[in-house]
Amino acid sequence: MLRLDPFKVERPTTVDEAVALLAAHGAKARVLAGGTDLLPNLKHGLHQPELVVSIGGVAGLRGVKDAGEVLEIGALTTLAELERHPLLAQFAPGLARAAAQVAGPQLRRMGTIGGNLCLDTRCLYYNQSAFWREALGYCLKKDGSVCHVVADGKKCVAAASNDTATMLMALGAEVELRARDGTRRVPLDAFYLPDGAKNTVVDEGELLVCVRVPKGSPARREGYAKLRHRNSIDFPLLSVAVALDVEGVAPGTVTGGLLVVSALQARPLRVSLDAVRGRALDDGAIEELGRLAHGRCHPMTNIADDPAWRRDMVPVLVRRAVADALHA
Ligand SMILES: Cc1cc2nc3c(=O)[nH]c(=O)nc-3n(C[C@H](O)[C@H](O)[C@H](O)COP(=O)(O)OP(=O)(O)OC[C@H]3O[C@@H](n4cnc5c(N)ncnc54)[C@H](O)[C@@H]3O)c2cc1C
Ligand code: SF4
Repeated sequence: MLRLDPFKVERPTTVDEAVALLAAHGAKARVLAGGTDLLPNLKHGLHQPELVVSIGGVAGLRGVKDAGEVLEIGALTTLAELERHPLLAQFAPGLARAAAQVAGPQLRRMGTIGGNLCLDTRCLYYNQSAFWREALGYCLKKDGSVCHVVADGKKCVAAASNDTATMLMALGAEVELRARDGTRRVPLDAFYLPDGAKNTVVDEGELLVCVRVPKGSPARREGYAKLRHRNSIDFPLLSVAVALDVEGVAPGTVTGGLLVVSALQARPLRVSLDAVRGRALDDGAIEELGRLAHGRCHPMTNIADDPAWRRDMVPVLVRRAVADALHA
C-alpha cells in the first residue's frame, strides 16, 4: 500500500485567504482542488509539501458565466459540469467534448478545470512509486540527475497530458492568475513552458481562478480527437484539437483557426492553418493539414507505445478531429 507522508492542511474559504496561505508558505505549499492528480502524486512521493491548501470550499470559483464576448469558467468547475453545460453546448462545444474524454466518470466528477490545466506532466519514468524510481536511480525531474528518455538530456521532456489544455489553446482561451499582490491574465499559448519539470508559468503564491474562452462565431467549428488504449480512464497517447473558421456552402472555405497537438512533450504544439487558408475544406486540404502536423510532431519514449506508431497516427487524429468539428 502506498502511504501519504504527513503534511498540514488548510481550508480557506476565500481567494484572498488562499493566496495569503500560498504566499506565506511558498514552495512548501501545494494547492489541492479535486485531488485526482495531486493525491496519487503525493503517494508516489513526487511532491513533499508541508502544507496542502485545499481550495474546494473557496467561494466564487465554481460555475460557467456568460461574460459578453467570452465564457468565464471558474477554476473549481468540474469536468462533469463542463461536459453537459448548456453554455458550452452553445458557445464552446469542442471544450465540452474534450472534457468528456478525461479519465472516467468518477474522476470527472471530482476533477476540476483548474486542476486539469495545472496537471503535472507525465512520464513512464516519473509516474511510479518512490521504490520503483529509486531502483532506477530516479531522474532529472525528481531526485536524480539523468533523463531516461533523452540520453544526456539537460531538460525534462515529460508530456503535457491534459485534454482540455489542447482544446483551450486551439480556442484562444486565457487564464486568470491571482496572487496576494495582484492579478494577471495569461493567454494559454503563453501559459505552457517547454520544460516538463515545471511546464506552466504559475508562480509560487499564485492561484488559477478562472479560464476565459472566446465564444465561437457561427463560422467556428471545433473538434477534438484523442488516442488512448481504452475509451475510458486512460491518459492521451496523442491528442489533437482544432478550431476551424469555415465559411460558405459545404465543404466551405477555411478563413482561419488553429490546430494543436499534445501528449508529445511538455508544451502543446501549435500548427498554423495558413497552408489551407482560403482553400475549400475538402479531402485534399485535410490531408495537407495531416502532413503538416506529421512533419512537426516527434513523439518520444516518455509515454507508452511506439513513438513511430504514435507519429503515424498524427494525420489519422487530424482527420478525426476535423471530422468531429464538421459532423458532431
Ligand atoms: C486513473 C486516472 C486517469 C486520468 N486520466 C486523465 C485523462 O485522460 N486526461 C486528463 O487530462 N487527465 C486525466 N487524469 C488526471 C486528472 O484526473 C485530471 O487532469 C483532473 O482534471 C485534475 O483536476 P483536479 O481538480 O483533480 O486536480 P488536483 O489533483 O487537485 O491538482 C492537479 C495539480 O494542479 C494544481 N492545481 C489545482 N488547482 C489549481 C488552481 N486553481 N491553481 C493553481 N494550481 C492548481 C495542484 O497543485 C496539482 O499540482 C487522470 C487521473 C487518474 C487518477
Ligand atoms: S522526461 Fe526524463 S527527466 Fe523528465 S520525467 Fe521523464 S525521465 Fe525524468
